[in-house]
Amino acid sequence: MIYDITIIGAGPAGSTLARLLSNKYKVLLVDQRNLDEQSDFAKEKCCGGLLAPAAQKELAKQGIGIPGDILAGPQTFSVKSVDMDNGLVRFYQRHYINIEREKFDRWLVSLVPDSVERKFSCIYKSYEAMENGYTVTLEINKKKITVETRMMIGADGAVSRVRSQAFAGCSIPDKYISIQECYLSDKNLPYYISIFNKDVTNFYSWIIQKGNKILVGTAIPFKEDADARYRVLIGGLRESGYIQGDAVKKKGTLIMRSRKIHQLNICKGNIAMVGEAAGFISPSSAEGISYALESGKILSSAINDGIDGFAIRYKKGLIKLKLNLLTKNIKVMMMYNKLIRKLIMKSRILSINVKLERDGYE
Ligand SMILES: Cc1cc2nc3c(=O)[nH]c(=O)nc-3n(C[C@H](O)[C@H](O)[C@H](O)COP(=O)(O)OP(=O)(O)OC[C@H]3O[C@@H](n4cnc5c(N)ncnc54)[C@H](O)[C@@H]3O)c2cc1C
Repeated sequence: MIYDITIIGAGPAGSTLARLLSNKYKVLLVDQRNLDEQSDFAKEKCCGGLLAPAAQKELAKQGIGIPGDILAGPQTFSVKSVDMDNGLVRFYQRHYINIEREKFDRWLVSLVPDSVERKFSCIYKSYEAMENGYTVTLEINKKKITVETRMMIGADGAVSRVRSQAFAGCSIPDKYISIQECYLSDKNLPYYISIFNKDVTNFYSWIIQKGNKILVGTAIPFKEDADARYRVLIGGLRESGYIQGDAVKKKGTLIMRSRKIHQLNICKGNIAMVGEAAGFISPSSAEGISYALESGKILSSAINDGIDGFAIRYKKGLIKLKLNLLTKNIKVMMMYNKLIRKLIMKSRILSINVKLERDGYE
């Protein structure tokens, strides 16, 4: 049997695509996670779990709203920006929704119609081109199997094996190592925290509360000594009392920060990339769920009009998303320039006054 479309990865991009593809196609959805059983922390996505307004808008446009049990407390409405390079602190109103990321992914997968065949706890290994499609090698329980498909979709996230094989030698986004730890906390933070500290990273670090835990994370340029820089961050947070004791969980992964449009990898033959595997993630905030949802939708409509010529329609459909990335890169130039950030924060443009007890960093 030959599949029309094999999707590698059932994160927000892959599961959105699988949900929206026409049932005229024989579709296979593959993921290394055990998405039909209880969650296994080792394979969970490393994520802050904040649903940005763009992701909320995209869910609204796709006609779905998230169930209550996916929400994580507290829901807060501001970000505390700590600029350690300039010694400034400001608060800004934000409209994120705080979610449990693994639950969110599993809920999106639950919306995929039964007509889509699933292979979970199944690792994509490699592909070979054949006449009219590809032979795809997968691994289940350490046993290799092959499937044949007319199209293959790389929805396998930042560490995409599909991208590294299909686009070997092509330009890719700037690589960052992201480390995120989870600490027990008796604090009740009424905001998220973003930290700018050039001794840690030229990107940013964050603190997000999830119930009685706080997530501490950062993204460090690939070539730097990530452990040493992470220790600088954690040392500062310990001193200011944000974290106590040892981390109860620790995860690391890559973030691919697309600084230029040519770093995106979109299509090659009948292989298409979607979500973060294609390079779609905000270079200013590392917000990627909205891009995954939207690029998944755009690819589904390009394919639903027929596999022939889908690449032209997909690329055309992505123009707005690419422009959005360009705009975000202009924001990067201001946000991550020490002097410009100082001027903006000093001017208090868009900042809000918040009455708080002292909590460090001030
Ligand atoms: C630390 C961190 C914090 C973040 N915080 C936020 C946030 O708060 N808000 C936000 O919007 N974005 C955030 N992001 C970005 C966001 O998580 C991603 O952009 C988003 O998950 C991309 O969705 P995706 O479906 O493209 O890829 P992913 O969510 O990465 O999904 C890829 C899927 O492919 C599967 N897979 C990978 N390789 C294989 C293989 N070889 N075989 C089979 N399956 C495979 C994985 O198991 C996974 O299910 C964060 C990223 C990081 C690293």
